[in-house]
Amino acid sequence: MKNFIRNVSFTPAGIKRGAKLLLVRKSKDVYFSEIADLVSSRSTCLRNQVGAVIVKESQILSTGYNGAPKGLAHCDEVGCIRQVKGYKSGERHELCRGLHAEQNAIIQASYHGISVKGAKIYVTTKPCSICTKMLINAGIHEVVYVEEYEDELASQLFKEANMIVRKINIRRNFGRAASGT
Ligand SMILES: [Zn+2]
Ligand SMILES: [Zn+2]
Repeated sequence: MKNFIRNVSFTPAGIKRGAKLLLVRKSKDVYFSEIADLVSSRSTCLRNQVGAVIVKESQILSTGYNGAPKGLAHCDEVGCIRQVKGYKSGERHELCRGLHAEQNAIIQASYHGISVKGAKIYVTTKPCSICTKMLINAGIHEVVYVEEYEDELASQLFKEANMIVRKINIRRNFGRAASGT
């Protein structure tokens, strides 16, 4: 990564005109992963806050976070049976009213008539098997994720579909992982 030192020609608070400012340009992977982390801050899930960003040719096509369908009550308002029953991570997804971040990102693109064929997805959490099936059929060919999520079927499907799946290390600033709960 290159460090750029530029003469500052603007005067944001605290920086004098002409002062040298060290600007570190983020890599695209870090940039989009940090945006996915920010997107997760809108999540209403009681368990995990996940953000997703679909990117093609270095441009964002859509974003998504896990939460209830548009206009309906969210789990943080009406409760979530998975939380009440204490189901473990990954168990009984169908009981939650929320959609996963990846699902919302794909749906948001389709809502606006945008093809995600050949795109990448940046996610804060490695996709589950349900989302993996959808990503494959939506034509997404690469997944970049921050946090691990154990789902054996998902890993097998990724392999069979020849998807590129990469883990990136960034600090999460949003979501429950950031607060350590
Ligand atoms: Zn729920
Ligand atoms: Zn999922």
